[in-house]
Amino acid sequence: MTRWVPPRDVLLAWNRDHLWNPFTPMKNYLEEDPVIIERGEGVKLFDVDGRAYWDGYSSLWLNVHGHNVPELNAAVTEQLGKIAHATLLGSANVPAILLAKRLADLAPPGLRKVFFSDSGAEAVEIAVKMAFQYWQNIGRPEKRRFITMTGAYHGDTIGAVSVGAIELFHARFGPLLFPTVRIPYPHAYRHPSGDPEAAARDSLAALEAILRDQADEIAALIVEPVMQGAAGMIRMPDGFMAALADRLRAYDVLLIADEVATGLGRTGAMFAVEHDGVVPDFLTLGKGLTGGYLPVAATLTTDRIYEAFWGEEIEGKTFYHGHSYTGNPLGCAVALANLELMEQRKLLEHVRRLSARAEARLSAFRELPYVGDVRQAGLMIGIEIVRDRATKAPFPREVRIGRKIVARARELGLLTRPLGDVIVFMPPLATPEAALEAMMDILYRAIAEVTEKEAGR
Ligand SMILES: *Cc1c(COP(=O)(O)O)cnc(C)c1O
Repeated sequence: MTRWVPPRDVLLAWNRDHLWNPFTPMKNYLEEDPVIIERGEGVKLFDVDGRAYWDGYSSLWLNVHGHNVPELNAAVTEQLGKIAHATLLGSANVPAILLAKRLADLAPPGLRKVFFSDSGAEAVEIAVKMAFQYWQNIGRPEKRRFITMTGAYHGDTIGAVSVGAIELFHARFGPLLFPTVRIPYPHAYRHPSGDPEAAARDSLAALEAILRDQADEIAALIVEPVMQGAAGMIRMPDGFMAALADRLRAYDVLLIADEVATGLGRTGAMFAVEHDGVVPDFLTLGKGLTGGYLPVAATLTTDRIYEAFWGEEIEGKTFYHGHSYTGNPLGCAVALANLELMEQRKLLEHVRRLSARAEARLSAFRELPYVGDVRQAGLMIGIEIVRDRATKAPFPREVRIGRKIVARARELGLLTRPLGDVIVFMPPLATPEAALEAMMDILYRAIAEVTEKEAGR
């Protein structure tokens, strides 16, 4: 039975009356004639009027094989014929065990334990709480503080916001948050020297100073390896993750690698930490884990951490944390199918080929007069727009240059979402090469047209 879909004007009215969208200034959104998606096919999305758009942001960084993928659909339906949900609290279900094993096999060596949740923010909360309790369980409760990095984004629950550092999103919740110690993320473009090496050196020096004085009080450091996403696609210099991990080991501080955005192929490696050969103590996954189908996230950790929670119930070492839908069988089944398809279709090789193609195309973007910087890690790409390339000064905020470019791209048939003045391009990993070219044609045209027009005002 297909449910009747009301016409667009009715949907919009009901959106206005009842639906509050996330991360969305509702007034602007409703005034700007929002897109209402009805279906998807491959790397295209179709709105309720039947207009087609390229999915230039993987439906917010999630999608892997495209939409309406027969194999993934079948995995959900098949599981649906057995059971939709069965709890993991003091019990187990088949797909959750299979997926835990599969992730442990895929993960960097040593990350053998998998704790499921429903979103990236929860996966981060779990890593933070596990790290905190770990030190208590082994008798070092004074190690209770966390180091985070400028521009960090780890999700929107209060714990995840506590380890976040994006002023626009996080500052107003300050009084609700636990305090952290912050070090700069190495951001070459905005570093006074403009030099990646110098940015990395400053960052490591700040870390070293903190560790030297306070390592006895520090539980863990959390980082988005290789590429900071929400901060505006900030690429760390090669080798930085290895240096960071090395310092933390030396001072016995745990490393939480938040790979909710970068994990599972997005950067051209299965996990971003692999570029530097780093094995963290915790690795969080979300977003692409189910191919963009269902909300499943995971926190991977080592035997060292797990064993500190091992003991009789009365010893009080148990990790008292969980969610109603933890390890949901439908989600785990589709995640398994997603990982199987990735392997069958040699998706990592495809991502590397496609990234090289994108990189070649991006050199023309760099020549555009109002493009300040182009940052890429595989199929995670950010194009920073500036008013003045020499001074790196942005367009005035009220111009909303990012929004305008994205609105023009939408008219031309591509959907994405800006991060301030950074235009995000994150196509589904399985995007065919011809589709990538078509998407980049639109992006280029939208950026060129809108920046020329706004600069000429
Ligand atoms: C998106 C994201 C999260 C939050 O994931 P949700 O599923 O939206 O809660 C956490 N960390 C990083 C690096 C992300 O990009």
